[in-house]
Amino acid sequence: MKKILMTTPIVEMDGDEMTRVIWKMIKDELILPFVELKTEYYDLGLPERDRTDDKITVDAANAAKKYGVAVKCATITPNAQRVEEYNLKEMWKSPNGTIRAILDGTVFRAPIIIDCIKPVVKNWKKPITIARHAYGDVYKDTEMKIACAGKAELLFTGNDGSTQRQTIFDFEGPGIVQGLYNKEDSIRSFANSCFKYAIDTKQDLWFSTKDTISKKYDHTFKDIFAELYEKEYKAKFEELGIEYFYTLIDDAVARVIRSEGGYIWALKNYDGDVMSDMVSTAFGSLAMMTSVLVSPDGKYEFEAAHGTVTRHYYRYLNGEETSTNPIATIFAWTGALKKRGELDGLSELASFGKKLEEACIDTLNEGIMTKDLVNLAENIETKPVNTAKFIEEIRKRLEKKL
Ligand code: NAP
Ligand code: MG
Repeated sequence: MKKILMTTPIVEMDGDEMTRVIWKMIKDELILPFVELKTEYYDLGLPERDRTDDKITVDAANAAKKYGVAVKCATITPNAQRVEEYNLKEMWKSPNGTIRAILDGTVFRAPIIIDCIKPVVKNWKKPITIARHAYGDVYKDTEMKIACAGKAELLFTGNDGSTQRQTIFDFEGPGIVQGLYNKEDSIRSFANSCFKYAIDTKQDLWFSTKDTISKKYDHTFKDIFAELYEKEYKAKFEELGIEYFYTLIDDAVARVIRSEGGYIWALKNYDGDVMSDMVSTAFGSLAMMTSVLVSPDGKYEFEAAHGTVTRHYYRYLNGEETSTNPIATIFAWTGALKKRGELDGLSELASFGKKLEEACIDTLNEGIMTKDLVNLAENIETKPVNTAKFIEEIRKRLEKKL
């Protein structure tokens, strides 16, 4: 068979631990035999980040900006224990945080659904994609403990000399206060990424906040989304027959539970943090969650939602066999290949991505799966396999399709 050709490179960001091992297996077994793969390779493994003083992460993010499509392996976000384990010069920042900041992007997470794993919410039939605004609010707040009676005030001093002052509360005794902020341009980027991704994936977009209670803060989010929709996206949405729909978060929660799925649910930072855990747990397994970072100008970085699966890696280093699920990492690759194919007009490449996804789903629907899924599968005879065997089974089915 002639290998499928590419024109523009995909930005490849390698990572750490078990996912780094799986990364190589996926490339060797499922991609390189079939595609004349063009990538610009960045090693975001922790030793290389440390060696380059984390410059490699910034370079990788800038490459993603330049080429528009990247695929990323899970990476370690160092903590004190990792600094010791890897003898690091510094506790380097989260690569995902660095890349997100450079691309000014929003993360969209969606589950991969298979027949034998039923979501806990029985009417969910299609994926629910969560878009979380990962900037500001309670994650960048200022908090104070109040020890005695007194007045807490909010004071803003403008660079033009203007001031705004408001009483938060007249304390009659001890208490607590919290100051939050967000920026209009960040909310605008979030909204643009959401509208673009809805158009890209042809799905409805839901957005919810608590604007009835938070009449200025949350209402600003609602207003910015509404303004951008009217000005820039309405015509395209109508043409595609998709809907933008704002509702109060309480109402959204009720509708989500009663829905069939199949839409994007955009949420503020805290709401997105909490709801994405709820939705992903209800759909089944973290190992089946995909994640894509989309910038407001339409650059994409695909990855798995899970981490480097450290516990399995230590077992692997001990020579033990592991049954780590590669599906979300494979789908990161297929996402990038399909997007590159679409952008470069390479239908063969896009179709390869689709066939590889189908081969994964077929393998799973035949009950061949890694151990994490075996306990979740219902009404099917399962055959638990290790990672290498699982990838081999996917390859067999892929070869038949090509
Ligand atoms: P994790 O790597 O997602 O793994 C947590 C547990 O979930 C695993 O021990 C395993 O459970 C299960 N699991 C996750 N993915 C799996 C898969 N593909 N197949 C089978 N089981 C899977 O999270 P973590 O252990 O909290 O974090 C490990 C490292 O990853 C940390 O250094 C963290 O900084 C990093 N991290 C990176 C990213 C990223 O790059 N996007 C995201 C999150 C965390 P069992 O052990 O019970 O089998
Ligand atoms: Mg969370």
